Amino acid sequence: MSNKRVALIGSFLESNRYSSVVNRERFHVTRGDSIVDDARSESPKLLKEGQGFFAAMDAFGAWQPVPVAMIIGGAGGSAEHKFIQEETANIYSSLLASSPVDAVYILNHGAMITTDDEDPDGTLYETVRRAVGAQTPIVATVDLHANISQKMVDNADIIVSYITDPHIDQFERGQEAAELVQQMLDGLQPKVSNIRVPIVAPNVSLLTDHGPYGDLIDFGQSKLSHEILNVSVVAGFAYSDTSTNGLHIIVTARNSQEAADQLCFTLAKKAWSMRQRFLWHLVPIESAIQRAVNVGHDAKKAPILLADLGDNVGAGGPGNTLWLLEALIKAKAKNVVIGSFFDPLLVEKATTTGIGKPFQATFKGDTWDRENPQLVIDRVTVHQLHSGKFYIKSGPLKGMLVNAGPVCLLQVEDISVLVTSRRPIVWPDPSYLEALGIEMSTIRTLVLKCRSNYRAVFDKYFAAENMIEVDTPGRTSPVLTRHDFKFIPRPSYPLDTDFEWHPELNLD
Ligand SMILES: [Zn+2]
Repeated sequence: MSNKRVALIGSFLESNRYSSVVNRERFHVTRGDSIVDDARSESPKLLKEGQGFFAAMDAFGAWQPVPVAMIIGGAGGSAEHKFIQEETANIYSSLLASSPVDAVYILNHGAMITTDDEDPDGTLYETVRRAVGAQTPIVATVDLHANISQKMVDNADIIVSYITDPHIDQFERGQEAAELVQQMLDGLQPKVSNIRVPIVAPNVSLLTDHGPYGDLIDFGQSKLSHEILNVSVVAGFAYSDTSTNGLHIIVTARNSQEAADQLCFTLAKKAWSMRQRFLWHLVPIESAIQRAVNVGHDAKKAPILLADLGDNVGAGGPGNTLWLLEALIKAKAKNVVIGSFFDPLLVEKATTTGIGKPFQATFKGDTWDRENPQLVIDRVTVHQLHSGKFYIKSGPLKGMLVNAGPVCLLQVEDISVLVTSRRPIVWPDPSYLEALGIEMSTIRTLVLKCRSNYRAVFDKYFAAENMIEVDTPGRTSPVLTRHDFKFIPRPSYPLDTDFEWHPELNLD
């Protein structure tokens, strides 16, 4: 039997509709053989699910990767439409040129929008289906913050979503996708059921080691069997603000449509019955600042971590809102480290000023919730300058190189601020701080513009009860009623609370 030819396609961007557009320069694109060379290299740059897919396919035996393109953008605003349109067209012609292929793997985030298409992921799946025909298996992996469209479900045979937040299971999900591809190559014809539950959950309620989302996912996983192949409970990404927002349940069964339907139905009912648990308590800024002041004055108190939720760069926050910095300076908090602030001009000025020298610094803030916000401080000292190339030393991305561009560490009274110039830091890690001469043990308060990614790496330094979710204003505030969403279907809980809902299967 000849080696099976499996096409590899990647498209990965989580779009916050209200963040700045992600143009083509911000995407990392790999094409053709360099995808395979990278995947099989010692330290691949390919996203972990891609690595897992390769590992499992290689373990199964001989196969022939047909590398098409990996269009990777991380998190940000809407993608430049023309770019995604061109890339989708390229993928189509490249698939035709490589035809026939035996199967397709799509490595996808699932919450992209472009400046002119609210469902480019669905458009991609549809395009791939058109290129390879109805009989060729298409298996996709998605983030659990994907906004699942009917187009995606209809055009993929199987969609496998992550099951952990923070996301630490990408590798395993890639392996699972490979196993499912193998089974389909052996003749499996899966039956899929999906339901959109009208819950648009605040992302803070979506951690999976505790809380309602974890319970739902665990319940789904407990139903896996010889018959039930995959259960994906996909919470979606509210800030994309699309008509596909909602909590999607996708169940894939081996033979029985009825089994898929029944479990999907049960899960949808269960999700709806626990909807009130998705409402979340955040800590007001004033209380968080008071705690920072307290731990700064009392070395016996355990250190705290403040998560700046209104400016979560992992969800498209710009990384430069000023609320916490201003409040901490005003309150004279001590031994504080701001884990990152994005301001290229400030880094430039610090670089020309030089280490050890004071200067007048202007921190420019995000304009989303304030007019021309800036914080001018007369005397700031440049403590360190650094290339901004850091290796992540722990957690799921251990060993990966992060390039934040030239960075500086500024000292503003008793507050150290790590300022980045290339982009905000999505995956914070202690190694960045240590590279700049900060000892983790000396920090009393650490501020991160991050919602959950830090939990996988900073839990060694901060007890769970001392990682504080602060209710700051901003583009990524989890208080969804503060946003002026235009496209999310209504009613959706908790934007709307006074309505009834009963699950219906999306039958063709
Ligand atoms: Zn995610």
